[in-house]
Amino acid sequence: MRALALHPDVVVVAGAVLGVNCVIVRGAVEAQGTGAEPVAAGMEPAGAETFVIDSPVLPDELDALPTLLAQAHFPAPSGLLATHGDWDHLLARLAFPTAALGCGEDTVERLRARPGEAQRALRSFDEGLLIDRPRPLSLGSVQGLPLPGRCDVGERELELHPAAGHTSDGMAILIGWAGVLVVGDYLSPLELPSFSDGGDPTAYGATLERLRGLLSRADHVVPGHGPVLDCARALEILEEDLHYLAELGEARKLPAGRRGAAQQRIHAANLAALGQEDL
Ligand SMILES: [Zn+2]
Repeated sequence: MRALALHPDVVVVAGAVLGVNCVIVRGAVEAQGTGAEPVAAGMEPAGAETFVIDSPVLPDELDALPTLLAQAHFPAPSGLLATHGDWDHLLARLAFPTAALGCGEDTVERLRARPGEAQRALRSFDEGLLIDRPRPLSLGSVQGLPLPGRCDVGERELELHPAAGHTSDGMAILIGWAGVLVVGDYLSPLELPSFSDGGDPTAYGATLERLRGLLSRADHVVPGHGPVLDCARALEILEEDLHYLAELGEARKLPAGRRGAAQQRIHAANLAALGQEDL
């Protein structure tokens, strides 16, 4: 697990498996004047609040999160957010069992419609790697957030944008004051566009266009899986992915840097979903 500070108020924790990213954001008391950093380094600001977005997946990584927050002088999280309802984004409650989880309303609907799905997927992942967890995953009462919408963190504000297409649900989070855009399972330099649980290429493309409009306000883009991107690289991947979607089903090469065995598997699954075989 690696932790990377993108801004005094934003830390990304990159997990050791699946390339998963967890974003920790602190909303401090708004700085007066312009250009001032909101918080002096090494101090926990009064009135600050912390949210944890998505999660790492390994038990040791989850166990390390509270210490990491304390070392970074972030208060214990008052809320958890998940970009969508796939199990690998929902595990933060294993680290912070009393914090409430908030998701887009479409994610809450998905979780309600299929209770226990995340737990079953987690169990199958754990069985594959012989992982034994000290306690089961309980999501608690998940709070639905309207999309688009806003969400206060301390005296700051997160912008929440709809991002369905990979699945039937999804939320991108713009941390405007820090110039960080958290996109969920889009714009991954590791994965190809993929669809499950009600996702589809048309909605996926519409989400990419929506993200395009947000990129100009972001210095850093954090995909659900893979390294953090600058705005230019994110835009490159966005164009590659739109091109991939437009030509999905035609015989074509996968985007450069994404032609390995894992991406071939995703591509084959996409073609199978369209009722075609890779020729
Ligand atoms: Zn994911």
